[in-house]
Amino acid sequence: MALLQISEPGLSPAPHQQRRAVGIDLGTTNSLVATVRNGHAECLPDEQGQVILPSVVRYLPDGSVQVGNLALQAQRTDPVNTISSAKRMIGRTLNDIQADDEIRYLPYKFGNDERIIHIHTRAGDITPIDVSAKILQVLQARAEESLGGELAGAVITVPAYFDDAQRQATKDAARLAGIHVLRLLNEPTAAAIAYGLDNASEGTFVVYDLGGGTFDVSVLALSRGLFEVKATNGNSALGGDDFDQRLFCWLLEHNSLSQLPAQDSALLQSLCREAKEKLTSQTTATITATLSTGLAISTTVSRETFQQLTQPLVVKTLEPVKQALRDAHVTKQDIKGVIMVGGATRMLHVQQAVATFFGQTPLNNLNPDEVVALGAAMQANVLAGNKNDDEWLLLDVTPLSLGLETYGGLVEKVIPRNSTLPTARAQEFTTFKDGQTAMMIHVVQGERELVSDCRSLAQFTLRGIPPMAAGAARIRVTFQVDADGLLSVSAREQTSGVQAHIEVKPSYGLDDTTITQMLKDSFANAQADAIERARTEAIVEAQSIIAAVEHALSLDADILTDKELSIIQAALAETSKQLQFGEAQTIRNAIHTLSQATDEFAAKRMNRNIQRALQGKNVTDIET
Ligand code: ADP
Ligand code: MG
Repeated sequence: MALLQISEPGLSPAPHQQRRAVGIDLGTTNSLVATVRNGHAECLPDEQGQVILPSVVRYLPDGSVQVGNLALQAQRTDPVNTISSAKRMIGRTLNDIQADDEIRYLPYKFGNDERIIHIHTRAGDITPIDVSAKILQVLQARAEESLGGELAGAVITVPAYFDDAQRQATKDAARLAGIHVLRLLNEPTAAAIAYGLDNASEGTFVVYDLGGGTFDVSVLALSRGLFEVKATNGNSALGGDDFDQRLFCWLLEHNSLSQLPAQDSALLQSLCREAKEKLTSQTTATITATLSTGLAISTTVSRETFQQLTQPLVVKTLEPVKQALRDAHVTKQDIKGVIMVGGATRMLHVQQAVATFFGQTPLNNLNPDEVVALGAAMQANVLAGNKNDDEWLLLDVTPLSLGLETYGGLVEKVIPRNSTLPTARAQEFTTFKDGQTAMMIHVVQGERELVSDCRSLAQFTLRGIPPMAAGAARIRVTFQVDADGLLSVSAREQTSGVQAHIEVKPSYGLDDTTITQMLKDSFANAQADAIERARTEAIVEAQSIIAAVEHALSLDADILTDKELSIIQAALAETSKQLQFGEAQTIRNAIHTLSQATDEFAAKRMNRNIQRALQGKNVTDIET
């Protein structure tokens, strides 16, 4: 994503008036909060002096909630009510995560709502948004305590690959926590800002981020004050935890242990983690424990042994690095600097491997687990208007194209990827049926040509179009993306002025009580809502498809053979029948059959249209 510096003179605060603004790194394993004081960015510690807050939330029997170290420790004894890895689930559906082994093997009981993940705990059904909100609340309280008053706002970081839904869900978590989000910022960009690269010369940089459970690599290009994420890659199942695991397996073998009770293996695993961390600064570490059988073990491991055991993991990170370079069309010789992010990059053999691969010493003089929070704090400081001289705002670009579904399940892109934010673009569409009074607007995100390969963001219907001849109505659809990369779409029929609007931003403009209430309501009515919504959506879709097919037949039925035509007509009849009596699933089945029956037809029509276009007739009328 690119970052653009623009001046914002109206935001200048009165001299000496500092607004309390923080940067928050909401991590999969650990979270941190940082601020800029006296021109210097620093992470804020808790009462015990710890800056790192484990991203773990436990719901206790007495109704209270623990966040951080206490929750992390309770994970062994109360796994079902102790939620970790919320970040892997936020903004995703059960369907999305079903194939994700990292989540599938967590001991949680998931509800079967299709739209949002629910985890059954003793405190009721909890969403990843709730869990993240608890973590944010603790960091907010810590910051307010330390800064002596209410926060004006926060910059919260998200992975560069987070899509719209994941970004929105993160924002919702912040709103639930009562935090004003100044903006969301990509993690690699935050790291680059922390290293001051935004003021540096031009060039291509790599951000190598090895955290607790995930590995992310990003290629950033900086030119004329503009950062662009050229490529991202990684491995969502590779992180510091895997190094603990290798050491743990070695320890078992070394002590001829097998089949340990869960309690013992959890104990040894956490001791292995400690040993791994010690081996970064010491050449040996000793693991001492008494198991539940009474067996006492004391094993010393050398750094050399540890490095040998885990070298394959280090090597494994280089594959995504190579892929990201290829995707960004750069070679390692083009890389001006490599930024190390994530606690696990402290390990010396990781540093070494990266240095050897790139042929240069990586940038590692900032704390790798703090660097994202520090960059976010610097950005928050600017956005809150605390920098008097040389004020600037950083703006992203859209990571993926945004567009509309058009006839035949094809995507018409309205905002191309990499457009600088905020941005707005309009495009005109027309009706395809005489007397058509409604139009379904289906907003999708992605680069592929077919709607089925893109991510569906929202659907709404523009109603009340005055009946006109097909092609006479002029429906202007406007896409707007704000500085956080969040989208709103409106449609307006130009001759009559009827309009409809949707914000792909469910919580925008609502106060926190309303959001809390909405989330509660959604739990209460989730099932009935989901059924009704699914049926309504299926009906809307079926209607629009029937109309589209009928219209297409009225124009181009002559390109079909009799057999093709009769198959389509049978599918049409079945869909119309389902429309009246069917349930969501049977309507969908009919739609599916109908769209399969018309695939070939759509392709033939496209060819015909292309030929028409080649003959000088316009098929689309694009306005920007
Ligand atoms: P995330 O981004 O996933 O929230 P972090 O960046 O905080 O995670 O990284 C956490 C990982 O870093 C853990 O696996 C932890 O053991 C590891 N880590 C932290 N400090 C050290 C150290 N001194 N040496 C080796 N690994 C470390
Ligand atoms: Mg991180």
